[in-house]
Amino acid sequence: MSNEAWMREYLGGLAHVHTRLSNYHGHHESDQSVQSYVAWLHEHDLLGPQAPWQYLVITNHTANPVRPWRLSLRGWRSRQLKHQALQATVDGIRVWQGFECSLLPNGHTDIPDTMHARAAVVVASVHGGWSNFSDGPSRLATLEQACNLLEVDILGHPLRGIEAVASDLNWELLWRRATATGTAIEINVNSFPGATEPEWRQTPWHQWLKSLAHGPAQLWLGFDLHNQVQLERLRANWQSIDNPDEPNQLRDCLLALRSAGIRPERIINRQVNDWQAWLDQPKGDRGSKL
Ligand SMILES: [Zn+2]
Ligand SMILES: [Zn+2]
Repeated sequence: MSNEAWMREYLGGLAHVHTRLSNYHGHHESDQSVQSYVAWLHEHDLLGPQAPWQYLVITNHTANPVRPWRLSLRGWRSRQLKHQALQATVDGIRVWQGFECSLLPNGHTDIPDTMHARAAVVVASVHGGWSNFSDGPSRLATLEQACNLLEVDILGHPLRGIEAVASDLNWELLWRRATATGTAIEINVNSFPGATEPEWRQTPWHQWLKSLAHGPAQLWLGFDLHNQVQLERLRANWQSIDNPDEPNQLRDCLLALRSAGIRPERIINRQVNDWQAWLDQPKGDRGSKL
């Protein structure tokens, strides 16, 4: 069986995608719009009915991830984000418009109520490093606490920035909390360490995926796309998916999922109808996919 055939089982929704509205002072990673993503991905056969991905899930930052703060409702940015959130289809491609908010040390997020009410989906992540949060197990407590927030659908890149202490944490506590509350856990393809990355990043990832395989939390595959460079890499990765000689983050990440024992059915953003059904359920009813 080619890689392409089994890997398609894990794919469907190209999720965790940022547009230029995610740029802030000191944070200028993004150079795309929803339209430019759709046009480019469609042109390169990456998005469409027969393509590896069929729909987009946009998750713009609600506020500056470098210095998270609660967004002013009167601001220009807030209006732009609300306006964009009304686009559900672009050139025949379904687009879900959500947000990636930042977890704050006070146990809340930076997303205002009126914005999460309009958002298709809300991802909550730690940005700007963990230095504002206390060390060790309390970091895990921060993530557990975030699961309790009704506005949070998904925990974004929970491993990022704490690889060094990951093996000391009892992740099962988090998986149980996530399952009990209906919060999905992101596997962030963009931060998956490639074959040339140091051992201190690789080992925790593989251990973490093994722990995740025992579940029972639901999983969300996110790509954290911001710009043209990443789009080109995604295309190169997909084109060389069956060529073991080319370095390939997407292939390495999906191989790691499979060898950890994570089956495709665990991923909630695959077939469009399943994804919609998951979103339609009240958070507390989303349950486990195991
Ligand atoms: Zn993030
Ligand atoms: Zn992101």
